Amino acid sequence: MEFKNETIRDFSLEKERSAMHSALDSLPKSFPFEIPISIGTKEKISPNSFFHKNPWSPDLVVTKVSLAKPNDLEEVVKVSKKSWFEWKQVSQEERSNLLIRVADNLVSKKDFIISVCIWETGKQVTEAEVEFAEAVDFCRYYAMIAKEKLSPQKTILLGEDNFYSYHPKGIVGCISPWNFPMAIFTGMCAGPLVSGNIVVAKPAEETSATAYEITKCFWEAGIPREIFHFLPGLGSEIGEAIVTHPEVSVINFTGSRDVGLSILRKASIVSPNQSIIKKVICELGGKNAMIVDADADLDVAIQAILSSAFGFQGQKCSALSRLYVHSECYLKLKDRLIAAMDGLLIGSPLDFSNRIGPVINEESYLRLQKIQKENANFLVGKTCPVPDLGFYISPSLYEPPNNSDMWNSEMFGPILSMRKISSFSEGIQLTNQSDYALTCGVISRNPKHVLEAKSNIDAGNLYINRGITGAVVNRQPFGGGKLSGTGAKAGGPDYLYLFVEGKTYTENTMRQGFSRETLT
Ligand code: NAD
Repeated sequence: MEFKNETIRDFSLEKERSAMHSALDSLPKSFPFEIPISIGTKEKISPNSFFHKNPWSPDLVVTKVSLAKPNDLEEVVKVSKKSWFEWKQVSQEERSNLLIRVADNLVSKKDFIISVCIWETGKQVTEAEVEFAEAVDFCRYYAMIAKEKLSPQKTILLGEDNFYSYHPKGIVGCISPWNFPMAIFTGMCAGPLVSGNIVVAKPAEETSATAYEITKCFWEAGIPREIFHFLPGLGSEIGEAIVTHPEVSVINFTGSRDVGLSILRKASIVSPNQSIIKKVICELGGKNAMIVDADADLDVAIQAILSSAFGFQGQKCSALSRLYVHSECYLKLKDRLIAAMDGLLIGSPLDFSNRIGPVINEESYLRLQKIQKENANFLVGKTCPVPDLGFYISPSLYEPPNNSDMWNSEMFGPILSMRKISSFSEGIQLTNQSDYALTCGVISRNPKHVLEAKSNIDAGNLYINRGITGAVVNRQPFGGGKLSGTGAKAGGPDYLYLFVEGKTYTENTMRQGFSRETLT
């Protein structure tokens, strides 16, 4: 089976733009989308709802999300127990084929799903296109590696047969974030499903409609609804119930550090009626650095900085927020960067020429405004003006003091800090001072420095002479170390092992004589 990454469309072509515009324009008449709870074959609307507003036009309510409660999870567990036995019997070949069909279904609804995502998140169309391709890639790639990696292994010796095989772990709770609601949601569910588990999906509140449309593609492909349940709702309610339920074997979590660490603590408690040790996969935030070397190509550096720090308004775990620049090119780079930031167009993602859109919601908007106010004295560059209506935060560049929290806390917004370094090694040392270790970038033409970076930088994903976001399935398995996560490496060859456990059978085949009754 050959794997090929999904093609990315070119929106400089009129025909691509107009198809996407008609999909986007067709949605608002159906707002608010009503998102149900789905347990097995039953769907229900709850009287308790969460309302998500459109980020660039907050008067518009995009979704009304039913809030699942702990008793819904009890129902899921009951339904799943009955169906799991059959699902486990489905061959790996068939499960992989189902996932390929999911990918085909996604592709057939591409413009619609991308449009839902844009209306929920405020993501630019080019960013959404790349994210969508990643979702499709996850399905095709995991379908392929499931067949390659999860088949049983035999070691036959004289007098001894050994078998080693992989078995699904059971119920996997997939708790996902809003910032990549297509790719991350799809990948987090596809991995456990193709390896034979039951999935309870708990999408982020803000992007429940995108997640629901994707879930339908799984069901329509033939993944049984009794195996893939959809429980939208609040993290503090249904999220927590999934984490603490004695029959949920694996928590597959992607999100913030605080929530991730609290999940690790709670999942470590074994309740009296529990007979499993829960496995927790936590993929968390980043405080990602880039080092610009003395001899760096500044054209490459500027492009890499703009896309990494401000793409999707800096709301990526991989986003750049610490920039260390060699003293020999510091002023030149700073001037060019400020000038380039000035040219960034800010506005609604419905206008495809805009490079910067709104942040996700009012809470993020107020949090980021507060950070900007508190650091106003260190501001050196800012993109202006921003539209009055909508949750817009202008991309801004700071030179904060060395002891500022701007160097430590994840910003999750278009806020970048820069600092002068006197040597490349100092850049590495500062990079490694963080307790996060997700992505990192190096812009350098010095082969010795590139080698030094490869050996010494703590980062799950190190990028050289390019931007530091946008990992591609199969080519750049993604995930960090230190407090950035447990290193799941989504989109990589080892991902599926997280959802299975190995069993070994050894048989002594030396002739022992046969029992009489088995000889007939
Ligand atoms: P979040 O932690 O607030 O929420 C993530 C998910 O957890 C949501 O579905 C939420 O409802 C749920 N949740 C919240 N409280 C919970 C609880 N007590 N128990 C169980 N579930 C709970 O994160 P977010 O704001 O949605 O996403 C942004 C964060 O995610 C950033 O920190 C970003 O860096 C990180 N992120 C990491 C990666 C990665 O691969 N490492 C990828 C994307 C985002």
